[in-house]
Parts: sequence; structure tokens; C-alpha cells
Amino acid sequence: MPSSQDPYDVLGVARDASPDEVRKAYLKLAHKYHPDKTGGDKTAEEKLKEINAAYDILKNPEKRAQFDRFGATDGQGFGGFGQGGFGQGGGQGFEAPFEDFFDMLFGQGGSRQRPGGARPGNDLELRLRITLEEAYKGTKKKIRFSRAENCAECHGTGAAPGSRPETCPQCHGTGQVRVAHGFFSVTRTCPGCAGAGRIVSKPCRHCNGRGQRKANRELSVDVPSGVDSGSRLRVGGEGEAGPNNGPRGDLYIHIEVEPHPLFTRDGVNILCELPVTVTQAALGATLRIPTLNGEAELKIPAGTQSGKQLRLRGLGMPDLRGYRQGDQVVKIAVETPVKLSRKQKELLRQLESESDSRSYPLRKQFQETTRKGR
Ligand SMILES: [Zn+2]
Ligand SMILES: [Zn+2]
Repeated sequence: MPSSQDPYDVLGVARDASPDEVRKAYLKLAHKYHPDKTGGDKTAEEKLKEINAAYDILKNPEKRAQFDRFGATDGQGFGGFGQGGFGQGGGQGFEAPFEDFFDMLFGQGGSRQRPGGARPGNDLELRLRITLEEAYKGTKKKIRFSRAENCAECHGTGAAPGSRPETCPQCHGTGQVRVAHGFFSVTRTCPGCAGAGRIVSKPCRHCNGRGQRKANRELSVDVPSGVDSGSRLRVGGEGEAGPNNGPRGDLYIHIEVEPHPLFTRDGVNILCELPVTVTQAALGATLRIPTLNGEAELKIPAGTQSGKQLRLRGLGMPDLRGYRQGDQVVKIAVETPVKLSRKQKELLRQLESESDSRSYPLRKQFQETTRKGR
């Protein structure tokens, strides 16, 4: 689904539609564009894919919230996953809703098994710590993790080389059996093969008949600029291998941005506190200060008070979609000098004796208010 497409538009529901309304709208459209109705019409097929992709987002509270926030869900809006097989799972996004669709249509909840026991692999979740500078610029990170891979010896079948898994005689390969239950018959997972649909009589000794082994995987991940702690990147098709050669799960990377010694983040803005001397604050100064994009000049106007916030436009974080850039907000902290020499003290006393109330309007106002209050 192109990221420009709005799932709310596709399903024709309001932004605040309830999960039930979303589901009803989806079912109505899915019926309308189902291949049985349209006779395999290509445009209808495309339309159905859009409908499925839209429902995939809106039925999942997490994805829906993410779309509402960023206008895209993981992996779609970021668009940075071009290399190393990233984004190959694009087609997989359609499978889950399709199954949902059939489950709902035929009322067979839990019938996710395909003949032959192929099942989608598990999703994996990883945590990735990055620095604020990396979050600012975007970065490429090598990650290593362990995941289930199909056993190379038996090609994921679990059967010893030279033998083959046999179709389970109890369920004839469907993985499910019907059990009479009064007037009804109920579908249950087949006890003969535990739902796999196949029985391995001579197990592969490399994987003990499981068909899978753990293996290390190294990936280079593009972390888009603007990510924050709590951002989640989806790398399609990099999760665990699916049992019996089912499709791979997805990999989810949870971003954690390390605290920075100078900067804190407030949405797209970067905050920092800048200590200045009494003289700099009083006379004004132009200072070079650190930003996430190297040094920048900050003009401090004469007569700047402590707590004053000055703004360096465009030197904050980019937002995830690249539409705008925040500011760096510099909070001035006038530092009272300490450990003064005799001479410095003398100069300060001179300064004090030269000053009158015009130089201290705040103090003057305070004193006047106090007097009136008496
Ligand atoms: Zn094996
Ligand atoms: Zn069976």
C-alpha cells in the first residue's frame, strides 16, 4: 500500500470510528471485492489488497495510534529499508488480514493452519540504544540477533535426509479433526500431529525433527533521523522462519535514545541551559554554543535575565516524516560569581554604589509593592 493512502479513506470510516465500525466497514468492502464476486478482476484484486492493508492498520490499536501520530505505520512511512532484504515482507502484510477475513467469514476462529503445516514464523523484538546525535542525524546500525532458521539438512521438513514427512492419517494433512459434540461437530487441533498435518517417523538428527535451528543473523538497519525513545521500526520478513517453510515473521526494533549530558528533548525541540556571566547578561554577548549540528552563534541581548529562553530556529530535531524541524531552546542561567578576589569584590562594591533603581526595575517594583502592602 503506498504510504500516501489513508486507511480511514480506504475503508470509508471516520477518524474516531470504533473497532466494531472499522470491522463492519472492512467486511462489507471485503465481501464486495472478494474474487468470488468479481471473477478475479485485476482492479478489484488491487482494491482488495488496499482494503486488507488498511484494515491491517486500523484493527491493530498500536498501528492505528501510530498512523494517527505519524501518518504512517512502521516500515511504511520511514521508507528507509531498501537494503539487505528490508521491506521484502511487504507482501506479507496482506496475509494476516486475509486469514482474519476467512476466519470471520466461515466462523472458524483459530484455523490459521495451512495444509502441510506451513505457519508464519514468529515476530522478533529487539531493543536498540542510540545516542541523541544519532537520532538527530539518522544512523545505520549493525545488529546481531539469534533467530530460528529452517534446518539446512532437512530443508525445514524435520525428516531425516532420504525420508519424507508423511501426511498425518488422522487428519489427512489438514491439522484439524472434527469431533461430534451433541448435535454439533467441533473442529479441534489434530492430536495425531499436534496440528502440523504431517508426521515425521525418521527425524532429522541435526534439528531433532523440529525442522528448525537457531542461527545468528547480522543486519544493517537504517535508523531514520527524528526517532525517539519508544519509536518502533519494523523490518519486514526478518523474523523467525515459519515452521514447515511458512513465511518469515517480522523484526521489530524498539529504539531507546540515551540521555545526553547537555541536551534534553521536548518533542521536536531541544532544550539546554546556558550559564552566562553577570557581565555577559548585562552588556550582551555573542557566544558560540554547541548544537546537535555543530557550533552555532547565539546572540544574548544586553539586559538578559536569568531564565530567559532564546531560540535557535531549525536546530532542533527533525520530525519523523521530515516535514519540519524543531528549534534549540536555550535557557539562560546567569551565574553569580563565587570565590572572588579582594579586587573583584572591590569592583563589585563600586558597581553597586554607582547603580540606582533604574538599573534594577524588578527590584524597584518589588519594593514599591511591598510598601503599598503595608
Ligand atoms: Zn533438520
Ligand atoms: Zn494430524
